[in-house]
Amino acid sequence: MKAPRVAIVALGKAAWVAGVVAEYDAEDDAIRVDARAVACVRAALGAEEAERFVAAAVAHERHHRAFPRDGEAAAHAAARRACGVDPRRFEAALRAARG
Ligand SMILES: [Zn+2]
Repeated sequence: MKAPRVAIVALGKAAWVAGVVAEYDAEDDAIRVDARAVACVRAALGAEEAERFVAAAVAHERHHRAFPRDGEAAAHAAARRACGVDPRRFEAALRAARG
C-alpha cells in the first residue's frame, strides 16, 4: 500500500473548536495535521514534543486509513504502539489553548 501524503495545514476554526487536530482524507489519500495544534503543543511543551505530537497524529490517522471501521480508542492504541507516546499527553496543552 502506497504511503499517504502528509501535510501540516490550517484545518480551520470549526476543526479547532471541535477539537479535531488531524484528519484523513480518503479521497485525496492525505493526512492533514492542524498547524495551530502543532504550534500550541510547541509553545506549551517544546519542539521535541511537537515532533512527537505530529508523529502520533500521523500514526493515529494511518490507523483510520488502514482500518476505517475501528474507533478512536483503537487509533489511539495504534499511535501508542507506533510512537511510544500516549496521545492524551497533549490534550491538556490543547485544551488550555482552546480555552
Ligand atoms: Zn481518530
